[in-house]
Amino acid sequence: MIAANWKMYKTPAQAKEFVATFLPLVTGHTRDEIVLCPSATSIHAVVDAVAGSNIAVGGQNMHTADQGAYTGETSAPMLVALGATHIIIGHSERRQYFGETDELVNEKIQQALKHGLKPIVCVGELLAEREGGKTEEVLLRQTEIAFKDLMAEQVAKIVIAYEPVWAIGTGKTATPEMAAEAHLVIRTEVARQFGREVADNMRILYGGSVKPDNAPALLNQPEIDGALVGGASLDAVSFSKIVKY
Ligand code: PEP
Repeated sequence: MIAANWKMYKTPAQAKEFVATFLPLVTGHTRDEIVLCPSATSIHAVVDAVAGSNIAVGGQNMHTADQGAYTGETSAPMLVALGATHIIIGHSERRQYFGETDELVNEKIQQALKHGLKPIVCVGELLAEREGGKTEEVLLRQTEIAFKDLMAEQVAKIVIAYEPVWAIGTGKTATPEMAAEAHLVIRTEVARQFGREVADNMRILYGGSVKPDNAPALLNQPEIDGALVGGASLDAVSFSKIVKY
């Protein structure tokens, strides 16, 4: 899977313009599942623009309730009604700026699965945690709490994105070996909780300053099953190069 996280960029018109350029560049590309995650206000436009193609559309965030007095929030049924099929959960920017905890990530995963949205669950350590030798401990905690009370068949529907926070939007990338090592920690934890088969089949994406020039070295690692791309996904040509690395 190669997924684009557009964060708070692109109006509906700009999103349509992206798709118009991007679609011809990836026509017939069936090796990877391609997912575009625009901001909620552009989901409708992107769903329309990609209709009939092999490109899926996801949200970047959602509330845990179906509906209610939660000003400014978007619910899973609303995203589904727009045509979204995927949802990013627990992105580090949500954790850092909007106070999302591991427990809330767990609740959101359960809500997404209840409504048939495929969760792309983000985990990853801060720079201080890596430098303090705590990467493994952080990944184990985030993975364990994210999947609390889930059954193996539910976990089988989830995609994880390992995104070291120090590599997001900074131009610093984990080396392919560092990323592969972190993925192995996550996969081993999934195996411990839900069995070898679920763990082996789970797609674990890498995210953090993925660009066309570093994509091949990262994505050729057997432990890395795809990428979640922020900055470099805003440009159709650059994102198409990552898709077709
Ligand atoms: C992200 O937002 O998930 C991300 C990985 O961003 P960037 O590619 O810009 O580091």
